[in-house]
Amino acid sequence: MNSNVLDFDTIIIGGGAAGLAAAVAFGRRAGGASFALIEKEQKLGRKLLATGSGRCNLTNMNMSEEFYNVSARPFMRRMLSRVTPERLISSFESLGLLCRADSEGRVYPCSNQAASVLDVLTLWLGRTGCRVFCGCRVGRIRRENGGYLLEADDKTFFAKTLILASGGQASAALGSDGSSYRFARDLSLPCEPVFPSLAPVFASDRLLPSVKGVRAAARVSLVADGKTAACEYGELQLNDKTVSGVCVFQLSRLVNEFLALGTVNGRRCESVRIVADLVPDISAGGLEELLAKKCRSLPDAPSDALFAGVLNRKLGVYIMKKCGIPTNGETLSSLSAAQIGAAAQYAKNAVFTPGAPSRFDSAQVTAGGIPLSEIDRNMKSLRFGGLYIIGEALDADGLCGGYNLHFAFAGGITAGAHAAKSEVKKHDKDK
Ligand SMILES: Cc1cc2nc3c(=O)[nH]c(=O)nc-3n(C[C@H](O)[C@H](O)[C@H](O)COP(=O)(O)OP(=O)(O)OC[C@H]3O[C@@H](n4cnc5c(N)ncnc54)[C@H](O)[C@@H]3O)c2cc1C
Repeated sequence: MNSNVLDFDTIIIGGGAAGLAAAVAFGRRAGGASFALIEKEQKLGRKLLATGSGRCNLTNMNMSEEFYNVSARPFMRRMLSRVTPERLISSFESLGLLCRADSEGRVYPCSNQAASVLDVLTLWLGRTGCRVFCGCRVGRIRRENGGYLLEADDKTFFAKTLILASGGQASAALGSDGSSYRFARDLSLPCEPVFPSLAPVFASDRLLPSVKGVRAAARVSLVADGKTAACEYGELQLNDKTVSGVCVFQLSRLVNEFLALGTVNGRRCESVRIVADLVPDISAGGLEELLAKKCRSLPDAPSDALFAGVLNRKLGVYIMKKCGIPTNGETLSSLSAAQIGAAAQYAKNAVFTPGAPSRFDSAQVTAGGIPLSEIDRNMKSLRFGGLYIIGEALDADGLCGGYNLHFAFAGGITAGAHAAKSEVKKHDKDK
């Protein structure tokens, strides 16, 4: 081996959630093995610090493969039977992190600070003897001499075992920039097309700027070819070009899958719409009656007051404009029963038609990537010896609620522990 090459038993590329979990799991078990963690950013765990709005929603007590993309579910079922939320929490407890679940099962550190999660991981990492190279971007990977040669900025590394934890392409400002997909090409690994998930959805609607900044509690559905494919309840946030809020984030995967591949949940389809019930607490008939009563009781009030007291006033006017109902200089008495009925119907079924794919830089997760069929239950490549792939680089993405970090941490712990076991076996044989 060339003396300028930094040679380790094991190298982990990526100091995010998956890579850090793998490094700690490896280091705690593989006494004597030399290993390194390479991270392109100047600091470890930048994205981790931003998770859960700075609180880090690290798993969810309400766990099922159903919360992941359809193609990942068989793999997730097996993984989740081994690494349950309880098991993940107890792994973190063994590092000294106290966690608690909120009323919806979302698990956070008791400190309510993502920094606590990063703290325990880096404190333990410090104990393991891991060489950490921050500010070092791996550009290329080659298989050589029964191992992996990594070309980074001004350094070359070699390891017999490589753990690929370089993430996806979402929120590149926090680190992961799609390098994983280049590495897949370097290693001749297949890669499913990638697209953003958990992101604001661009809606083609010229009236949207009039409700910029408005928020409404809504039931939001993803309707594909006229059928409801998914439904969420939450706060809908309207902006001049996008609709967002956690409820929309949850549907954005299907919207972007449709825009990228023409499918929804893997099934080909022709059209996709987001349909929002903006007044979910009352039936369409009840709403129509309420609006009609208002028109009768306040005949001289301006027509743009139709939804006053029911919805944000701007949103009410938006609905009326969508239905072609005059909102200037008219009075409530001038509105016909048909107009009132149409406004009530639209408020219960406001349509937002996706106009363009979401942007990776405002997405929380990348869908697509290296197929799960490439790895075994230990996250080990079925194609190449000594290669593990974990985290968002893989074609597995979950809903908001701690499911993505669960997958990243669970994969990291599994791969790190398995790589360490192989390392110990190798050393025992060499003795
Ligand atoms: C704002 C935001 C909030 C989120 N909140 C939550 C949440 O509360 N709960 C949840 O479950 N999920 C959340 N997610 C998603 C979750 O953070 C990710 O799914 C998870 O971090 C993926 O872990 P990872 O280790 O695979 O990738 P990352 O955390 O992205 O880590 C990959 C690391 O590899 C490094 N890297 C990339 N390329 C190279 C290279 N060429 N050379 C060297 N290093 C490289 C990157 O700099 C990065 O540090 C959130 C995401 C975002 C953006």
